[in-house]
This record gives sequence, structure tokens and C-alpha cells, in this order.
Amino acid sequence: MLRNDMLEKWDRENFFHPSTHLAEFARGDAPHRVIRTGSGCHIEDRDGTRLLDAFAGLYCVNVGYGRPEIADAIADQARELAYYHAYVGHGTEASITLARMVLERAPKGMSKVYFGMSGSDANETNIKLVWYYNNILGRPEKKKIISRWRGYHGSGLMTGSLTGLETFHNKFDLPLSQVIHTEAPYYFRRDDLNQTEEQFTAHCAAELEALIQAEGPDTIAAFIGEPVLGTGGIVPPPAGYWEAIQAVLTRHDILLIADEVVTGFGRLGTMFGSDHYGIRPDLITIAKGLTSAYAPLSGSIVGDRMWKVLERGTDENGPIGHGWTYSAHPVGAAAGVANLALIDKLNLVQAAGRTGAVLNAALRDALGTHANVGEIRGEGLMAAVEFVADRDGRRFFDASEKVGGRVSAALLEQGVIGRAMPQGDILGFAPPFCLTDSEAGEIADKTARAVASVLG
Ligand code: PLP
Repeated sequence: MLRNDMLEKWDRENFFHPSTHLAEFARGDAPHRVIRTGSGCHIEDRDGTRLLDAFAGLYCVNVGYGRPEIADAIADQARELAYYHAYVGHGTEASITLARMVLERAPKGMSKVYFGMSGSDANETNIKLVWYYNNILGRPEKKKIISRWRGYHGSGLMTGSLTGLETFHNKFDLPLSQVIHTEAPYYFRRDDLNQTEEQFTAHCAAELEALIQAEGPDTIAAFIGEPVLGTGGIVPPPAGYWEAIQAVLTRHDILLIADEVVTGFGRLGTMFGSDHYGIRPDLITIAKGLTSAYAPLSGSIVGDRMWKVLERGTDENGPIGHGWTYSAHPVGAAAGVANLALIDKLNLVQAAGRTGAVLNAALRDALGTHANVGEIRGEGLMAAVEFVADRDGRRFFDASEKVGGRVSAALLEQGVIGRAMPQGDILGFAPPFCLTDSEAGEIADKTARAVASVLG
């Protein structure tokens, strides 16, 4: 086995890590960690440090680490058939079964599922399908996509454009011109502190309407949003938000893409966030929870109204010119089938809702009165604590103080992983669904200690 010091040297010399300060890492000034194994809600590194992963990797290891049922399904599939493509009508038992399992769980009105490898490529597929749809309908001008500031939809050229976070745009010449952004549904950060939640919702809908009018309704093809803002701050929508937004979209014949990469398959305590909030999407993006990240797999679930037009398109133009080598990869599909079966068997969707409430209550008990805690929020097993310099005046810390990052580092010292979210001092939690009540309590207690060590 390689020695740890050798691995560190090779890591810093050869490995281009995503979302990492490249220069500091190469110089040895930024941390490196080699993860060796995981079980339940814990991971363990090569130095023997055991950590409670309260972010489930990147909110994706929903069933928890070390599930032999999924590992065995992957191994069996790899032995029987590691790969065959899905082009021109080919499939495997796993991919066909998984498509059916996804549709059985999907909200009403969905027709088919296309499989990709990542949330980013699934959203690229979605935008291509939207453009194809409007071309088939003879509306070549109706192509722009509206996304929200602070939305997260991936980091490709199109999907990085849809993402509404500065660090994904700066120096990359993004966003592309076909993408425009509207107000984030982030009540705590509203400009007008006197607004009620309902007034803020009305304001978000009015902003959307104004943007559509300014651009021209005939130029807007689709609106994309996560049911609960994820990477942009873990922010459940204000009351009535999705109903108000959908009314605007319907008025202008604009398609709705629900990006359920995080919320799909149980994270909110319901199978899909769309059902949770009464969203009626034309396309749904799925990834992470589809396999609990045991293998890379994503999907675009296509609704009835789009599907009919896609079929018409191929009758008029021949086979659809879209596909990846690894679409519906058999190993990923086998992982997906085993994962969804396990979620059912262990009732993990209900567990996520119940334990999410326990975690939220524990965070409130531990931190609710702290002078620098501006808001504790969440839905299902997603939770966030937002820090402020002054609670009554809702004055934010200067970004240079890096309060969120310091609290998350202090929490890590105590053996718990919480994620410092970008663009704000926000500590996020999204643990595996198998989190126990006592682990929820541990997260809250250790977070309170970490906050005390940084902010007093
Ligand atoms: N959409 C949402 C809502 C996400 O949270 C993410 C990733 O965090 C993505 C899309 C992109 O997924 P991936 O990182 O697999 O490309």
C-alpha cells in the first residue's frame, strides 16, 4: 500500500481538483485529505480520522455509505455486462427497469426518462430539448432561458450560465447570452425588510413578469429552478412562490424545468420536490439521489406535452441527434435499481422528513438565540444556519471575514462535516437519510460549540 506522504506528494503534483484553490493546493497551503472508507453517516480517512458527514458527500449519498446491496448489484452487473450503449433502441434489464421505477415515482404527467451521467449534462440535455421543441413548433425565436440568481444547475457552458453564482461565471465569459437571471426567492435577504413573505412572493412574480415583458414573451422558452434553492444557500421558497411563478409562466407559454438533482428521491421527505410544492414541470432533472452516488447517473424526465412534440420531430427529421457514450450505463442503472429498492425497503423517504424535523429543531434549540445567528431554516433533510454581524438590523459580515468558512472549519475540528455555502456566511447541512436522532443532536451541539469558538 502507498504511504500517506507519498500519496500527498502525488496528489499535489498531479491531481487537478474541482472547486479548489489550485495554487494554494499545489504549494501545500490548502488541506488535502484521502478518504478511505465510509459506513452509515460516517467517512474515515487514511489517517484514521472518522467524520460525521452531515452533507452526505455533496448532498448525494442519500442511503448512507457502505450499503452492500448496492455494491453487490454494481459488481454483479459489471461481471455480467459492464457496458453496452443505449443508442438505436439498445438497453439492458437494469436500464429498462430503472426507467420504469423512475416513472412510477415521478409526479403526474411525465412520459419518458433519458439517462446521462451528471446533473450538469442532464441540464444540458434539457436545454437542447427545449430548443428542439420550439423549433419543431415553428417558434425559432423562443429560445431564452430564465434562471434565478443563486440557482445552481451545474458548471458546463450552458449549465454554468444557468447557475446564478458569481464564482461560476467570473473569468469564464459566462453567462452565455441565451440565459437571463431573475430574483432569488430568498426572503431572509430581501431588500425591503418590511415586506411580508406573501408580499415578497408577489414581488418575485412581478420581477419575473417584468423581465419577460422587457425581453419579449415570444423570446422566452423556459424557466429553470430548484424546488428549494440548494448551493445558493439552502433556502426553502417563500409562501405561495411556486404557484405565483407558474401562473406567470403559463400566461406566456413558457416551459418549466424543475431541477430536482438534490430534492429528487426523498430529500424533502417526499419523493419529489415538485409534489412537495405543487410544481407541474415539463422537464425534471435528476441525478444524485438516483443512485445515492454509488455510480454516476443522471436523468431528464420528459413530460407528456414535450414528449409528443419530440416524437413529431423525429417523424419529420429522423432520429434525435443527441446521446452520450455512457447514457444509461448498465453499472449506473444497476446501482439505481438497487438504490431505489433500498429506499423503499427502509422507508427512507419518510425517515428523511422525520429526522429532518428533529435536526431543524435541534439546531434551533442549540443556536436559536445566538446574537450572530440571523436565520435557521430548512425543509426535510436540508438545513442552513445563516450568520450575521447584527441580528436586529440584519447586517451581514464582510465577506473578507470568512465567517461561514471559519465556522465550518471549527466544526470539522470536532469531527462533523457541514458545508460553507458560497456568497454568504451560511453553514449547510444535508445528511444521509439514515441519520439517527442522536447524530442529529450531535450535529447541533457541535455546531453550537463551533459557533461559540469563532463568534463567542
Ligand atoms: N443541479 C443541482 C440542483 C445541483 O445541486 C447540482 C450539483 O450540485 C447540479 C445540478 C449539477 O450536478 P453535477 O455536479 O452532477 O453536474
